Amino acid sequence: MNPLQRPLAILSALAEEQAGLVEQLQDAHCVTHAGRDFWQGYLAGLPVVLALSRIGKVAAATTSVALIERFGAGSIVFAGVAGGVGSGVQVGDVVVGTAYVQHDMDASPLFPRYQIPLTGQTAFAADAALARALVFACVVGLQGLRHDGRAPLVHQGLVASGDRFVSGQDEMRNLVEALRSHGHEPLAVEMEGAAVAQVCHDYGLPFAAVRTISDRADDTAHVDFPVFVRDVASVYARRIITELVRALAG
Ligand code: SAH
Repeated sequence: MNPLQRPLAILSALAEEQAGLVEQLQDAHCVTHAGRDFWQGYLAGLPVVLALSRIGKVAAATTSVALIERFGAGSIVFAGVAGGVGSGVQVGDVVVGTAYVQHDMDASPLFPRYQIPLTGQTAFAADAALARALVFACVVGLQGLRHDGRAPLVHQGLVASGDRFVSGQDEMRNLVEALRSHGHEPLAVEMEGAAVAQVCHDYGLPFAAVRTISDRADDTAHVDFPVFVRDVASVYARRIITELVRALAG
């Protein structure tokens, strides 16, 4: 591996989403570290390391630190699923996050609600260039696909993360209203993105993520979840990441 080119880390939340990527990996080599499997190799000639974030903010932060400290990742991209909470953000669409907030962070009155203590920040921005590359990869990679007879839309905006699978209409409304009253307008909720964004912020490394909308975070959020991940999200993730590495490899 060219020592000057640090690998791109590609995180998936769920094994079904990662499977297609591991299959494409050239010179694949698996290292187990911190109870996790890290797949090193090349995609489109680009050095990469693939890992499962595991579920929730702490698990994702642990994985991210390992990717950086142990595997020398130079940037991190996340492809997963999320609940759509923005208007017009529908199942089968994708959201590329421009910034990440932790909806369950509340150290008030010591710090303003949602602010990450000692950082002075409530949201961490995605790397603009990497996020743009992801949007492009979504547009190209998802071309010709339909979900429920509809072409997937590519949204860009705020993503809210927290240690909770949001699966209730009232719960979702309360969460969104509370964020809104503090000036945050989330498009999607998930459980890892803001943690990875915070780790990358601390290390000064580029981060970007794409989420396929698997549910609307309402009372039926869990119903078709496993089937959606297996049949739809895994296909999206493979297509998007394939286009991304192709573009980055230039
Ligand atoms: N059934 C899975 C667990 C899924 S947890 C299993 O057994 O492995 C939900 C995952 O999807 C998390 O990674 C989270 O980031 C994302 N997600 C999708 N919809 C969500 C929602 N409505 N609320 C929170 N996270 C959601």
